[in-house]
Amino acid sequence: MSGLRIPVDGPDGSGTASAVAVLAPNPSPMTLDGTNTWILGTSEDVIVVDPGPDDDGHLKRVAERVSDRRVTAVLLTHGHPDHSEGAASFAAMTGAPVRALDPRHRLGEEGLADGDILTAGGTEVRVMATPGHSSDSLCFWLPGDRAMLTGDTVLGRGTTVIAPDGDLGDYLRSLDRLRQGAEILEAEALLPGHGPVLPDPIGVLDAYIAHRRERLDQIREAIRQGARDAREIVEMVYAEVDRSLWPAAEMSVAAQLNYLKTL
Ligand SMILES: [Zn+2]
Repeated sequence: MSGLRIPVDGPDGSGTASAVAVLAPNPSPMTLDGTNTWILGTSEDVIVVDPGPDDDGHLKRVAERVSDRRVTAVLLTHGHPDHSEGAASFAAMTGAPVRALDPRHRLGEEGLADGDILTAGGTEVRVMATPGHSSDSLCFWLPGDRAMLTGDTVLGRGTTVIAPDGDLGDYLRSLDRLRQGAEILEAEALLPGHGPVLPDPIGVLDAYIAHRRERLDQIREAIRQGARDAREIVEMVYAEVDRSLWPAAEMSVAAQLNYLKTL
């Protein structure tokens, strides 16, 4: 039983029995409603995932929500600033170490890697490496809630961009791994880094995988029709999409071109 909560007015306060989102005030086309900072745990010990931007009001709001509890660790799903920038300030407020896959984002002795198991009070957190969106992307499985915290690997709306430090081949493998995991583990919810909680993990992951294959087919077709670079492909394939999203689309197309070269 995941104890799913999905408020109608956005991600703030959404979650499962032992996970709750605190929404950061950094909305944008890339971050949707803003970054979801996740508080994990129901007892006196909690883990905070992705403190988000270095926004004093947001970090204080998160700290207030856990003021009667002890933050044992701050975890990062990955090192992009909209997730990690506030980590040092939040660590200073709470005295908690910051654990991440990328050593550059750690504060304290301990890292974070595939297969690690952490507990916050009675809440277990299992770490899964899911490179692709970025090379350092992690997901966190909460077995007690049958929920997967996905960072930017899966978003609450739309699809994820492969960042310059990511890799589409890795990303497709990570989606397959998450898809298999969701089935074997009987996942009931995805808790994304941006946007609302998703109650149908297998449906969402299937749609993500299908979307990636469709985009790759469209790019192959655009090349057949004469597109010579990422920009020209975007002009053909994303003609209907708002122009403010074209730079992100161009980044994504560049990642797909790199991937097609490896096949
Ligand atoms: Zn993000």
